[in-house]
Amino acid sequence: MKKEQNKDSKIGIMGGTFDPIHYGHLVAAEGARHHFGLDVVVFVPAARPPHKGMREITDPAHRLNMSVLATASNPNFEVSDIEIKRRGTSFTIDTVNYFHQTWPQSAIYFITGADAVLEILTWRRVNELLDLCSFIAATRPGYRLENLAGSLNGLPPGYIDKISVMEVPALAISSTDIRDRVRREMPVKYLLPEEVENYIYEKGLYLD
Ligand code: ATP
Ligand code: MG
Repeated sequence: MKKEQNKDSKIGIMGGTFDPIHYGHLVAAEGARHHFGLDVVVFVPAARPPHKGMREITDPAHRLNMSVLATASNPNFEVSDIEIKRRGTSFTIDTVNYFHQTWPQSAIYFITGADAVLEILTWRRVNELLDLCSFIAATRPGYRLENLAGSLNGLPPGYIDKISVMEVPALAISSTDIRDRVRREMPVKYLLPEEVENYIYEKGLYLD
């Protein structure tokens, strides 16, 4: 994104590991763009996500390349390498701070799936985060958002209003399942863009 552009724009940020990126991510991002009138959705692959435990994650360069391939055909989608460049554990507060400082006039919307938003109380400096941006929580099969307010009752009053639930077509797709399928030589076609599928086979990702 160019610094001089988008003065009063609405910026969506889609954070994730994207290991690999799939249609669940893309449908959530496009739904948010449309529903909230976002000018752009920036996909930000994490260098190292705080919540992923010990599993080895794929080389950031591959996850970045796959994100670029998956989003290339959408003129409203962009990819940022700021978390990857920053290295170390990727905290959303640092990323949102960067966007806020670079585009101080813009409204920032952080897009997550239902599983991620239910864990938001464990995120670093969550109050500060909710001062800087709104959250859009996309529905995701297997995670219930009916009682989101109840689950988040540790948040100070008012903050819960900055989190909107957004209904999206249910796609029971996860990166974990895709990695598993590749390893077991099961099909992943139609779960993710063809360009990403081809990239995975070309580079021999997820074979062990
Ligand atoms: P993994 O299985 O490795 O955790 P994932 O499929 O959950 O991968 P992430 O990169 O962890 O993908 O997710 C990035 C963001 O996209 C998270 O906020 C997550 O909730 C959301 N998301 C992922 N898949 C879906 C889906 N199928 N529907 C809605 N949201 C999704
Ligand atoms: Mg996940």
